[in-house]
Amino acid sequence: MPQGKPAGVRCVQLDAANRCLIFGQPERPAVCASLAPSQAMCGESAAQAMQWLSELEQQTRPGAAPGGEHPAPGLVQ
Ligand code: SF4
Repeated sequence: MPQGKPAGVRCVQLDAANRCLIFGQPERPAVCASLAPSQAMCGESAAQAMQWLSELEQQTRPGAAPGGEHPAPGLVQ
């Protein structure tokens, strides 16, 4: 996504099975390649992972209070 992926917007590189179409390729953004998955991030289901991502997006949106009121599990602050 040339201008970056806005929060809450599905990445154009996801396929129908939610797999990255450019995984392992040089055009994959560095931030994606540097993100190491963890149990806290992935949870036990896709729904739990989406909840974690939503909380992380809320906490890192422009103007969000540092640390937020409810830090996402596994988020290093
Ligand atoms: S890893 Fe990055 S490029 Fe691939 S689908 Fe996820 S957000 Fe998009």
